[in-house]
Parts: sequence; C-alpha cells; structure tokens
Amino acid sequence: MNPARLNQLSEKLKKYLSDEEINLVQKAFTIASSAHQEQKRASGEGYFDHPFSVAETLTDLKMSGAAISAALLHDVVEDTSISLSYLRKEMGEEIASIVEGLTKIEALDLSFPKKSRYLENIRKLLISLSKDIRVVVIKFADRLHNLQTIKHLDLSKQKRIAEETLEIYAPLAHRLGVYQLKWQMEDMAFKTLNPREYEEISQKVANKRIERETLLLEAQSKLKKILDSSGYKGEVQARAKHFYSIYKKMMRESKDIEGMYDLFGLRAIIDGKPSDCYNVLGLIHSEWQPIPQRFKDFIAERKSNDYQSLHTTVIGPKGEPIEIQIRTYDMHKIAEYGVAAHWVYKEGGKSDKEFSQKIGWLRELIDWQKDLVSSQDFYEGLKSDIFQEEVIVLTPKGDLLSLPNGSTPVDFAYKIHTDIGHQCIGARVDGKMVALDYQLKTGDRVEIMTSDRIKGPSRHWLDFVVTTSAKSKIQQWFRKRSREELVKEGRLLLEKELKKASFDVEMGLSLELTNKILKLTKIRSIDDLYHQVASGAINAIEIIVLLKKEEEKKKKEEESSKVLAQDGLLIKTDLIDSSGTLLLDGVLLRLARCCMPLPGEPSVGYVTKGKGISLHRKNCINMRKIQDPSRMMPVKWEIQASSSYPARIIVTAYDRPGLVALITQIIAQRGLNIRQMKVNTTSTKKARFNMEISSISQQQVEVLIAELYRIEGVVEVNRI
Ligand code: MN
Repeated sequence: MNPARLNQLSEKLKKYLSDEEINLVQKAFTIASSAHQEQKRASGEGYFDHPFSVAETLTDLKMSGAAISAALLHDVVEDTSISLSYLRKEMGEEIASIVEGLTKIEALDLSFPKKSRYLENIRKLLISLSKDIRVVVIKFADRLHNLQTIKHLDLSKQKRIAEETLEIYAPLAHRLGVYQLKWQMEDMAFKTLNPREYEEISQKVANKRIERETLLLEAQSKLKKILDSSGYKGEVQARAKHFYSIYKKMMRESKDIEGMYDLFGLRAIIDGKPSDCYNVLGLIHSEWQPIPQRFKDFIAERKSNDYQSLHTTVIGPKGEPIEIQIRTYDMHKIAEYGVAAHWVYKEGGKSDKEFSQKIGWLRELIDWQKDLVSSQDFYEGLKSDIFQEEVIVLTPKGDLLSLPNGSTPVDFAYKIHTDIGHQCIGARVDGKMVALDYQLKTGDRVEIMTSDRIKGPSRHWLDFVVTTSAKSKIQQWFRKRSREELVKEGRLLLEKELKKASFDVEMGLSLELTNKILKLTKIRSIDDLYHQVASGAINAIEIIVLLKKEEEKKKKEEESSKVLAQDGLLIKTDLIDSSGTLLLDGVLLRLARCCMPLPGEPSVGYVTKGKGISLHRKNCINMRKIQDPSRMMPVKWEIQASSSYPARIIVTAYDRPGLVALITQIIAQRGLNIRQMKVNTTSTKKARFNMEISSISQQQVEVLIAELYRIEGVVEVNRI
C-alpha cells in the first residue's frame, strides 16, 4: 500500500466526486493494492502500477467512483486469490459485476484468424461488453496501458495485442465515439507493429511542426482575439493529426506527408450554445478566406456516435490552408469521450434519456460486431455458420440475447425465463405490437407481455418456435399436468364455449350432445375429448363450428322429411312445370335428368342431401346403386289430362328427304308437341333425332314409339 499514491488519486477525485464516492475508491484501492502486493509486471514494476494507471485514465475522463473502483480491482479476480463473491460482499453488486465482465473478456482469445472459436469469442466479447458501458471504457483504458508498457513482453505477444487493438478495440472506440482513447490506442499499436514507419512519421511531423510553429501560433492568437473581441468565452487549441491516421491517409491516398495540409489545425471551443458556433464560423470566414468544399456541418448532421462540430478550412495568414474545428464544451466532451461522457459525474441513472442512450450504444455495439465479422473476407464460410444463423436482440433492460435465426418472441420469452414463456400473451418489438410468430431481427428490442391469468402455453406455439429449449419447455408443461387435471380443464373450457354459443349446458353436456360431438370429431371417449381440448389438440371453437354445420344440415333434412312422413309422394302431373320441377309441400321435386320418368311409370323419389327430392324411374341404373333405403320414397301418380309433361325420345333412321316432316306430322297427329329437337348424322350415314316431347302419360309415349317404328328407314326408337 502506498499512501502517497492514494492521496494523489484522491486529490484528483475531490475535484468532481462526493466524499462518499471517494471513500468507495479508497476501499477499492486498499483491497487491490494489497491483493497485488507480491506480484510484478514483466517490466519489473509492481503489478498494482497497472490497475492504478487504468484508474487514472478514467479519472481524466471524469468517470464515477464505481467505475474507478472497478478499474482498480479489474485484475484481482483474474490474477489474485480474491473471489467475485468477496468483491460482491465488500464492494457491492454493481462494482463486482463490472469486474466480472472484465474478467470474462480477459479469458477470451481474440487472435485472428487461426482460432476456430474466433467468431464465437467475438460474440462473447460483445455480450460481456454490453452488460455495462463502463466495462467497455475500462477495457479501453486497460488496453491502452498494456500498449504503453508493451515493450517488456516477447515479440509475438506484442504483435498479437497490437493487432487485436487495431482490429477490435480501436474500431469499437471509434463507433462509441471515445476518440481520446481510440487515437492513443491506435498510435501505440501502430508503433508496436510498424516501428520504422512510426519513427519516420513522428520525425517528419516534428520537423513540420517547427516549420509551421510560428504560423500556427500566430493564427491561434488571432483566432483567440477574434473570439474575445466579439465577447465569446472559450479557448483555442492547436492540435496535431495522429500518427496512425497520417499513416492510413498515406497508404490510402498514396500521398506524402509533404502534401498534407491538415497535419496541424486549430480548435475553437466555445462556452456557449450550438448557435454560437455558427456565429463564430461567420467571424472566422470574414477574417480568412474559406475553402467552400472543405466545410462540414456536423452540428446539423451529427454523426451516429453523437459527434458534433463545425469543420472549416481557411486560407491562413501566409496563404496556407488551416483546418479549424468549432464546437461547444458539451460537444467537446462528447467528441473526446463519446459514450463515456454520458457517465461523467453520475451513476447509472434510470431516466428515459439515459435508457435510450444505452439502447443507442448497444445498437452501435451490434453494428460494430456485424461490421467486424463481415470485414473478415476469408471467414465467409464460417460466418454463415455462426453469425448468419443467429440474431442478437435487446431485452427491455438493454441486455443482449443471442437466438438462432428464425426465433420468435415466444423463443425469446422462454430464453428469459420459463414462467415468462408460459404466461406470454403478446409481444412488442421497438414498442410496436407484433404477432407471437414474428421472426426477430438483429437489433430488435423485444418486450414480452404476460398475464398471470394465463395458465400455460398454447400447443400451437410448437408449430413455430425454433429453440429446442422453448420447444421442450412447452412440451414439458403439457406432460407435467396430470390427465385428470387436463380432463377437468377441458370440460370447463368446452362448456364455457358451448354456453357462449347458446347450447344448453346448464346440467353439463347432455348424452345426446356428447355423442354428437364424439361422432363429429371422431374422438373415442368424452375424456379424450376434454383432454384434447385442454391440451390444444382440438379447439373448442372448432367443435362449435362442426355442431352448427350439423344443425343446419339436420334442418334441411327435416324439411325434406316433412314430405317423407306421409306414406308416399303424390305427384300431380298438372303441377309439374316445363323445366320438370314441382313443389310438394314446400319441398322441391325434380325429374331426374338421367331417366326422366313418365307419369304412370313405376318411379321412386330420392331424398337428396339438401337439394330436395329427385324423381327416378324404378329401374333407373342410378337408383340401383343407392345404399340408403331410408331415403327412397314410393310414388303415386295423379295424371291430369290438361297437363303436359316432357319425355325424351331418340329416333335413329336412314336419312332421306321428307323424313323430318313425316316424324313431326305423326307426333302432331297424336296431339303432342315437340318442345325441342336436335338432329345429327352418325358416322354410318344415319340420322339421329333427339326430341323432347310434351306428353302426359307413359301410355301415350308407348303408342307414339310404336308408330314411329313403322316409318320406313327407322332403325331404332328409344326413350331416355
Ligand atoms: Mn488489466
């Protein structure tokens, strides 16, 4: 334990933290420094130097007492005998869980691409980082200090850490807007990986700086004067481009450092409102000539990581371009610290604004992960195996959850908790209601609605859930309930629905109704029926629909049987209309087209399903096929002379002139009418007359047939 150090840290903290928070940090300091006491780093320094430096970096970012305490303790679980449960007891859940997150990350091997578990580890990293923004920022600070002291490690380890920084942590810091740490990490990693290039650039920048020093100082003081004279409070900083971004620009645009005018620039930070920045811009442009295409307004259009500033390039005092950034102090804080800035001064609050900020950076995390994975070209095959087949969604609290592709809110609900799954009644995605079989997409924020009045899952969920755990939990739920319970529940459910549909179930289901249902559903016993209703195998509404249909059918048949009730059908020929139909006590009777029975001819009525009665000849081939004798009705004719009645006759004859005239003449002589006649010629040169004749009796038709036979050349006369 080193009291001087503790004082040094406390002095800094006093500037912005409460005594209570400082006490917390001091406690963490005591635990961490004694836990690491015996350990040495590769450099030979005491191990505690490392967490202490990390804590100092966070102090510069003005992070909270809990974050700084966690920074001091970040390696104790990994490297000393102190356990998480001890930390939880001594420092509280919040700090312990940050340390836990950091410990988990430490164990991940993120070296690329030799390791087959790379992508899986990236995903684990993402999940750990997402727990708490402070985990991310502490990790950046930790990585930065490791890079600063990297020269004591062996070369392969140096290379691995530097590569991992450029591949993973720096892009993440960029996404989250933590530029302060991003640039430092990048420059240190660059120095490790390309020491020669780093040296060269730093030399050239140093020379350039000397070259431009006077110019820059002059412009800086002039800008300050412009601000002062216009009454703006604030400061003007000179800034230098970072080495790694110079290097990247050189590579990208194959430019030499000589041709770069933005190596140095100025930054005006205004103590005021965003609108003041535009005023200051106007003042600068009236003093120096701007280069129009170099102006960028990141205030009106802020970057996705919340960065805001005005950028302009002007022609300076000696005719050289100078880039100037203009921003407020608030914007500056965000520009330097990004998401970390939201945590300055205060702890994890629960206001809506903070919550939406959290969702915002979580989405950044998810996007970063997608970018990271898709930028690894030669991982195409593996990518589709792991990442394409999963979606990462957010819980209402802002935790990340990964689920297989095609997962639904129900899968999500069961992943959170079995009871949430069982009681799930609906879901919202990003605040909007969705169906329970909606397919979740990466980045969706999912909220499950539950009701404790719901006893359990619906069996039809099994049709769409994709996770095995949801599937088995649903099945288990149904299996676990005893048959008795299900039977009882099914009975109540069915009775309730039947009552709603106004069936009489005051005394329970009648035997008649029960039998009807069993017959309709083809279920063997009433207990089976109830069981199936309760387990969702059959829906109570389905049963009611079946019953209603059956009722309707019965009603129609009953109408028909009114006629059946008499001892036969009495068919009065004068009531038959020209289309061959007749109404008998409200029931429609139709002469069957297949045999067209004639009045007086032995006939039979057939009660059809819902289409009235059809009348056939007794020997009609179709009647011989009928299985159900209860549908057959005896028929009595009552022939009225005044009525006409259709009969169909087909005459086949050798065609000769005058044949048609002769046939029609004979029919007319019998006092009959031809209602329809079609003539066609057969392949054997014979003519076929197909006639519908109105007659009144079988006898009349038989006489006519005999006469037609007598015509010369007639081969055949048939009645249909
Ligand atoms: Mn560390």
